[in-house]
Amino acid sequence: MARFTLPRDIYFGENAMEELKNLKGHKKAFIVTGGSSMQKFGFLDKLKNILEETGLEVKLFEGVEPDPSVETVMAGAKAMQEFGPDIIVAIGGGSPIDAAKAMWVFYEYPELTFDDIKTPFSMPKLRKKAIFAAIPSTSGTATEVTAFSVITDYSTKIKYPLADFEITPDIAILDTTIPETMPPKLVAHTGMDALTHAIEAYVASARSKFSDPLALEAISMVFDYLEDSYNGDKRARGEMHIAQCLAGMAFSNALLGITHSLAHKIGAVFDIPHGCCNAILLPYVIKFNSKVAMKEYAEIAKLLGLPGASDKQLTDSLIAAVDELNKKVDIVPTFKEYGVTEDLLKSSIDAIAKNAVLDPCTASNPRKTTEEDMKKILECAYYGKQVNF
Ligand code: FE
Repeated sequence: MARFTLPRDIYFGENAMEELKNLKGHKKAFIVTGGSSMQKFGFLDKLKNILEETGLEVKLFEGVEPDPSVETVMAGAKAMQEFGPDIIVAIGGGSPIDAAKAMWVFYEYPELTFDDIKTPFSMPKLRKKAIFAAIPSTSGTATEVTAFSVITDYSTKIKYPLADFEITPDIAILDTTIPETMPPKLVAHTGMDALTHAIEAYVASARSKFSDPLALEAISMVFDYLEDSYNGDKRARGEMHIAQCLAGMAFSNALLGITHSLAHKIGAVFDIPHGCCNAILLPYVIKFNSKVAMKEYAEIAKLLGLPGASDKQLTDSLIAAVDELNKKVDIVPTFKEYGVTEDLLKSSIDAIAKNAVLDPCTASNPRKTTEEDMKKILECAYYGKQVNF
């Protein structure tokens, strides 16, 4: 048996946030947000006003850091217990939404610890105290519709990739006026993250007839709109906000692959943003996986109208198209050109490869991947080497 889970309601379009005015039957809203951008652009005040006008008592939890910590989650959960909200509203980038998802778990079950919930799909039933709404400000992680949250324990340097359909939000609000404020570099990185989600989901082991069309539409939209979005076109920004959400619906259910396994381990060591890591790795991973997933890659290439008479030619065209898209949004083709030193590569490659094999995303990659394979892919992505895996 397979399962496909999404939020109950998705509101999208300009000023979609206003939909919260129609909330019924709630008394107390707990807002979770990050640094300062939501305040600076006035979205936090707008959200607060909408909720208060609806008759809700509102409490704010601000300052969730990038890569949120266990401490922040526990502090938020404690504040929730004191306030007693029946709706949690997370607004901002991936970090505050991820943190709020974990706070929610410990609000509903204060006796639990991270170790109790780290086994994927083992969480107890939520929604006994509150429902969860998410309003993303960036267009990439799609955490507003996914079953995932990543929390970091800085004392042990362990990342807890929490995974359970219980933490799939109830309401996702894609207010397309919010991503208009993203700086171009963030547009490029988050957009390529979304493309990676969609392409990995289309070949992942848990893909289904439900996830495939979402992945394909997301891929086609990213190719249509990312460049214009990067160059500041408002409509394209809005379309990318929708595209990344479609990709999220696909990968939350189909899962991901080794582009993400490697990116999860490289990001911290090389100090490169997640989406940029994925963007550099993706062409090499397509090449590696094409040994078992060439038919699927060829289908994507055909959908995009890329040239090629055979599946092999079409797959090569897809790789070239990803390279080309990276170039259009000013993402360098190799880690070397990004500025990672050879010394750093050599001193860290063994540990990265070892940890990447153990990453949960490796299990859903279409091709079985060994430590040696990981090293080879990483070396190719560092030097820009073309090999036949
Ligand atoms: Fe990602």
